[in-house]
Amino acid sequence: MTDISALIAGIAEELRFADNRGKVANYIPPLALVPDTRFGMAVVMADGTVHTAGDAEEPFSIQSISKVFALTLALGAVGDQLWHRVGREPSGSAFHSIVQLETEHGIPRNPFINAGAIVVCDVLLGRLQPREAIGQMLRFVRELAGDDTIAIDETVARAEQDGGFRNKALANYMRAFGNIEGEVDLVLGTYFHFCALAMSCRQLAMAGRFLMGGGVSDGHRVVTEKRARRINALMMSCGHYDNSGDFAYRIGLPGKSGVGGGILAVAPGIASIAVWSPGLNASGNSQLGQLALERLVQRTGWSVFEPR
Ligand code: GLU
Repeated sequence: MTDISALIAGIAEELRFADNRGKVANYIPPLALVPDTRFGMAVVMADGTVHTAGDAEEPFSIQSISKVFALTLALGAVGDQLWHRVGREPSGSAFHSIVQLETEHGIPRNPFINAGAIVVCDVLLGRLQPREAIGQMLRFVRELAGDDTIAIDETVARAEQDGGFRNKALANYMRAFGNIEGEVDLVLGTYFHFCALAMSCRQLAMAGRFLMGGGVSDGHRVVTEKRARRINALMMSCGHYDNSGDFAYRIGLPGKSGVGGGILAVAPGIASIAVWSPGLNASGNSQLGQLALERLVQRTGWSVFEPR
């Protein structure tokens, strides 16, 4: 049996002095302060054992990884009705792109690009006040991770609120098509707070257990098996923006990245994996995070395309 702790410790060691670490995001000022030398990895196995390496206990801004949890909550709230307002196709465009919204009448391609996630927030706000939606999200990730210390980094949320001009443009543009129903500022405030969730690799990998376990986490059903399968399918096809095809090609796992440098990846039935390295590639995905996952799947055979 593979010793996962030794395996990920080895990967962390190999990548410690990597030259091409990518570039830390600087369009959200607090993110620019995070040293690009940080590297963490956590793997939670189906039997509950947890393996960590590097800075796996240090919380970082999960950013767009929160889109997975927001989608799960929105599907729980309105079910398949959600798909009238957001698509399920890879965009092939940048995470904050506006171009497709014009020809596609304000319907974002998928829930994992910014426009899609902003619509998901608007859907949640159809039933909740922003404060309640943010509280619901916090409770949800704490419960999934089994860790009540998870918090939102208000400095990051405020920085996104102060900048975030593209997101404001996206929301206003979709509102013009009638696909944002609430107050743009309130929808964006909720979206920014979701993005500003701070979690460690360990907490994130724990929170991903329901996607590894066919909807069940720690013996509790979170979503149906069908829904877990479908969320995984969306992560595989759309989880890395215009880099999603390459991620599937190289790694072959459902995954979702964030501009904080985190990636949550799921090997269904086997493991929930989180990796963090703040330097990003041109598409806004963790450069070393992807490399680490590539090495992990090569050495374990965990790609979903591996014959079993
Ligand atoms: N909060 C970020 C934004 O809206 C999320 C982007 C990302 O992680 O890809 O720009």
